[in-house]
Amino acid sequence: MHTKTRLLVVVTLMLLGLAIATTINVSLNFRDYSIKSAVEKAKLTATVVKDGLTAHMVHGIMDKRQFFLDQVSANDDIKALWIVRGKKVIDQYGEGFNTETLRDAIDAKVLKTGKMHKEVIESIDNIYLRVTIPFIATSHIGNPNCINCHNVNRKDTLGAISMKYDISTMRTNSFFTISKILAINLLFIVVALFLINYYITPFLKMFANLQEGIKKAYTGDFTHRFKSKAGGDADKVVEQLNILFEKMQETFGEIKINLSTFIPGGSVSSNDPLHEAKTIIRELSDIYKFKKTIELDENKILIYERIKDILEIKFNLKHFSIYEIDNKHNSRKLIYMTDENADICYNDSLNEDAIRCRAYRTNSNVISTEFKNLCNECKASNIEYLCIPFNINEDASLIISITAKDKDEINTFASYITSIKNYLEAAKPVIESRILMEKLHDTSLRDGMTNLYNRRFLEEFIDQIMSQVQREENTYHIMMIDVDFFKMVNDTYGHDVGDKVIIELANILKENIRDADLAIRYGGEEFIVMLHNATDQGALHVANKVHLAFAKLVFDVGSNEKLQKTISIGISKFPTDGDTIWKCIKFADIALYEAKNTGRNKIIEFKPEMLSKDMESNPDY
Ligand code: GH3
Ligand code: MG
Ligand code: MG
Repeated sequence: MHTKTRLLVVVTLMLLGLAIATTINVSLNFRDYSIKSAVEKAKLTATVVKDGLTAHMVHGIMDKRQFFLDQVSANDDIKALWIVRGKKVIDQYGEGFNTETLRDAIDAKVLKTGKMHKEVIESIDNIYLRVTIPFIATSHIGNPNCINCHNVNRKDTLGAISMKYDISTMRTNSFFTISKILAINLLFIVVALFLINYYITPFLKMFANLQEGIKKAYTGDFTHRFKSKAGGDADKVVEQLNILFEKMQETFGEIKINLSTFIPGGSVSSNDPLHEAKTIIRELSDIYKFKKTIELDENKILIYERIKDILEIKFNLKHFSIYEIDNKHNSRKLIYMTDENADICYNDSLNEDAIRCRAYRTNSNVISTEFKNLCNECKASNIEYLCIPFNINEDASLIISITAKDKDEINTFASYITSIKNYLEAAKPVIESRILMEKLHDTSLRDGMTNLYNRRFLEEFIDQIMSQVQREENTYHIMMIDVDFFKMVNDTYGHDVGDKVIIELANILKENIRDADLAIRYGGEEFIVMLHNATDQGALHVANKVHLAFAKLVFDVGSNEKLQKTISIGISKFPTDGDTIWKCIKFADIALYEAKNTGRNKIIEFKPEMLSKDMESNPDY
């Protein structure tokens, strides 16, 4: 039942109950009061009759008593009045008038017991009160002394008076009174219901409106605006709720927009910003964990393995292949294949000519449901496929080829594309850095004498290294190291000794740097060391160690002659000192120049003041 109807029914029933209870109570009281008042009247009449009869006796006019009794019973309410004589009075004075004989059993009972009798006699038309009151002989002072005239004892019943009172008007009056009470009650009920309806309706409407808004809010929709005509505090509450909902809508909208920038395209498609935010945060957190894990993987094969796990476990894919394409040579290599169900295009000629792969060539997703025989290279029939291309860098791309038994399944997988690409996007810089590391092992980039990286390495990779460092917000301390008065070694002891000094210095560098650091033979006896994510103090510490270790070296140059040399070091910091690594190499060189100019055999950190005015005006710095 509707709340309002229920409320009105309950109130009506309560008020009706109250009205009925009041009516019954009033009618009972009314009847009781009417009977009591008739009895009082009867008693009064009995007293009047008793006193009157006594007076008649005293004055010796007892024969005139009927006239007196007729006068008394002339009252409208008294329908009958008669007196009866008790036995002792009859014995003394005779039977009396014939109207004074016993009329019924009540008269007889009252004469016998000396106790008043009253009863209500009801019929459809009338209602009577029958009262019979005994006259008891008295002898007290103040009362007529009955014993003077009657041969009776005190407390004997002299006689009785019976009266029949018509109390029908009581019934009529009570009927009208009760009708009036009922009418007033009914009027009151109608007014009460009207008022309740009038005051409660705006509240009920407001509650219905609140319910509607809260229901929408459950689904994350905060666009509802509350309305109230209830006035007072209710309006204030509604106003505050509207402000709250506006803020919620704004905040969740913003959260959704901000979060979706982390996951472009988003994998969520609901109107519930809360649900969307939750899903995006979960996906972000999963991707973050994935990225943190692969960052610790040593090579790209391990990372591909993780991508395979994600496809199998998170996306629940059963049949797929992962290919890596060498962009420069247009060749394709199979990284992983779940089973023969995923083999739709594996063959040597396609592997050697990857440009034939539609997904790779067009750099767009290829879904078999879009067009019949979409990819010419697919050899499998009765199988649906989805090929997702993903470019890692200018050297490499990935193709993920997923197969399914029917269109529904492949369409479901197609809905994962954005999400899968989000994972690949997270893996991209890590794969890129592992590809770079692989390349760094290339011998053409190393100096044959010291096995350190050579200048070509620096020229080819410094830009890649720099963008990676910038992306990951890392730093490099750049140390430029040069042997002091090296020419003299060559000139005095020959090139072999000079080479030995160079090799020993290279060894000292290797011993004092970590895996993530880079040591490069930049020129003849000039080296660059790049310390990854070192503190200023740490970089200085490494420089000192290298400096000291080299100074301690003693070279045997024959004929019992010993040679000891020193080095000078200039240090700069990327990206604090300059926004490119080349600039910072230059600044380390300036610091080295400063060391050479101020006496050699020392370590000097680059300071912007070292730049001469000419240099400062050079826009390259
Ligand atoms: P400074 O203290 O100013 O550095 O004086 P320096 O004599 O060391 O001057 P500089 O750095 O210009 O000397 C470089 C010399 O290194 C010149 C060249 O003959 C020599 N050199 C370059 N490559 C090799 C090499 O592979 N082997 C040997 N033995 N010497 C080399
Ligand atoms: Mg030198
Ligand atoms: Mg030099």
